[in-house]
Amino acid sequence: MTIAVLGTGIMGSAMARNWLKAGETVRVWNRTRAKAEPLAEAGAQVADDPATAVDGADVIVTMLFDADAVAATMEAASDRLRPGALWLQMSTVGLEGADRLAELALSYELRYVDAPVVGTKEPAEQGKLTVLASGPDEVRDSVVQLLRPIAAKALWLGPAGTGSRLKLVVNTWVLTATEGVANAFALADALGLDGAAFLEVIGGGPLDLKYAHVKGALMMRREFPPSFPVNGARKDANLILAAGRSAGVDLAAVEAARSHLDTVAQRSHRDEDMAAMYLAARRAL
Ligand code: NAP
Repeated sequence: MTIAVLGTGIMGSAMARNWLKAGETVRVWNRTRAKAEPLAEAGAQVADDPATAVDGADVIVTMLFDADAVAATMEAASDRLRPGALWLQMSTVGLEGADRLAELALSYELRYVDAPVVGTKEPAEQGKLTVLASGPDEVRDSVVQLLRPIAAKALWLGPAGTGSRLKLVVNTWVLTATEGVANAFALADALGLDGAAFLEVIGGGPLDLKYAHVKGALMMRREFPPSFPVNGARKDANLILAAGRSAGVDLAAVEAARSHLDTVAQRSHRDEDMAAMYLAARRAL
């Protein structure tokens, strides 16, 4: 079986590596070729363009920034897509994006699985992502099997688009939790307290949250190596807010997170981890 991975950024490159380790034949393409080239040493065939990558492939995986990038890439590959091939669309694209890409799959006669992922760089490298898969039931078993090398958990959620809906719910939690942690650490620092004291108070009890320790450590050091970059988090906040508007929900905490993400993005932190939203809360820009 040949898997074509389109997009070898933080997530796509880690996923491609795990499929290679599992013995699959993997072709990779990335707009900036230099990011795909290190995968050649791990056994991947590096393609010059999306069409070469998908030529005759049984499975196409898209792991790109947003729905526009996915649509443009699939359009560029369209001449060589094999009708009946499986398309695992794993980028975070929101509701409108998932529907738009499902229509594109139909026009290319591909079997479309909407399968966004939960987990950042480290779980992706360890093959421990959670995949929120949804699509036609007849491909369920082969998709679950295919996901084994990259996922600790593969949920099958029903018709295509359900995965993208749940992904927005999960990221609502991720973004608002990080905003909450950033607020607590900013206030602690401004009041002359050590953030570690806050972590000690919540530690081990019902108020505790692993994420507060992970993101809090970055905030205390004011160093934000990217795991979930600011720019991607802003894109996701906008997708969540669009879903909230169409569903008639007031997502004020997501608005607050988006505002802090916008502020830090404007101050050259767009490629750093979203924990940098702390700097906006602390007004330390
Ligand atoms: P990333 O490292 O920033 O990679 C983004 C990828 O998209 C790169 O391959 C980039 O190509 C490509 N790209 C952007 N615009 C493009 C365009 N117009 N045409 C073609 N390619 C384009 O991001 P990532 O973290 O791997 O994220 C990939 C997807 O996974 C996103 O949808 C993200 O929301 C989702 N996700 C990320 C995380 C996370 O924690 N990182 C977790 C769950 C889901 P270049 O290299 O040329 O820029």
